[in-house]
Amino acid sequence: MELGVGDVSQRAATGSLPGWDDVESLVVEAWQRNRGVDDGTVADYIPILAEADPTAFGIAVVEVDGDTHDVGDVDVAFSIQSISKAFVYALVCAEIGHEAVLERVGVDNTGLPFNSVMAVELAAGHPRNPMVNAGALATTALIPGDPADQWRFIVDGLSRFAGRALELDDVVYGSEAATNQRNRAIARLLESYGRIDRDPLEVVDVYTRQCALRVTAHDLAVMAATLADGGVNPITREQVVPATVCRDTLAVLAASGLYEHSGEWLFEIGLPGKSGVAGGVIAVVPGKAGIGTYSPPLDRAGNSVRGQRAVAFLSRALGLNLFASDAARAADTPHTSPGHTEGTPA
Ligand code: GLN
Repeated sequence: MELGVGDVSQRAATGSLPGWDDVESLVVEAWQRNRGVDDGTVADYIPILAEADPTAFGIAVVEVDGDTHDVGDVDVAFSIQSISKAFVYALVCAEIGHEAVLERVGVDNTGLPFNSVMAVELAAGHPRNPMVNAGALATTALIPGDPADQWRFIVDGLSRFAGRALELDDVVYGSEAATNQRNRAIARLLESYGRIDRDPLEVVDVYTRQCALRVTAHDLAVMAATLADGGVNPITREQVVPATVCRDTLAVLAASGLYEHSGEWLFEIGLPGKSGVAGGVIAVVPGKAGIGTYSPPLDRAGNSVRGQRAVAFLSRALGLNLFASDAARAADTPHTSPGHTEGTPA
């Protein structure tokens, strides 16, 4: 995956983001630079997703003080898919505690594709990675109550992250529910290892619904900004989850947010992020902002091509990489930017 960071020079290196106009013009530039990129393929293993418009492209940045930058198709609704894993994980950590989730689900990247059954077999059923399907199913299974309670918990929690009432996309839910044999197999395997204590097919159903919640790129930016500000929604000012839970969730996103390309994303971009197969991407800039993008064509790991490129541009141009000292930022010119590899060890 070519992220296009090689020809981006640093425009701003500040402890806080530059003024609204500067951020706005860079968000516009991120969109203009990448709107014509036509690499990637729209997901079709969930049949309805194949109908998405491959040209749709939106970038939203919401700063922790509520300042907003919306460029392109930021109001187009799509299913949140795997990005739900980040927010359900945070809500479950807030509900049952850091230790219980760590013990049951783990926090390590498996290096395997998101729908891998092998992820369950690696460590005798311990899922390890809450950001792929095996770990996400184990996480959803930890929500207290019956399936109706669990669904209410998810809709209510993700809506509080978004600052508005999110709704189920019935068509996406129906399309995935009819074709999610792999997830049913993963849940059965987890059950066989004692990692799911309830009916595994009911867990798959709740998880399939959580993935079919409708969001926009703008919603994703608000949700990401909530994680950026220690759990405080920048629009409603509600404390959605505790600050310690945000810290833990961002560590997990840094390790595992982009499936088996998580290392490459962190290397090039230096921010916690998460993607979903409908084409959404979030990136979290702790203490500063949330970024949400939408563009359906995906790379081979299932990450939006334009979304990754747009975030890579913004990270570089705004000096957002969490690992960069001021000296590293100053040295970051087009001539010294890192090279890049395609391909993924499975
Ligand atoms: N609902 C999808 C699935 O379970 C989510 C996958 C994704 O976004 N990577 O297959």
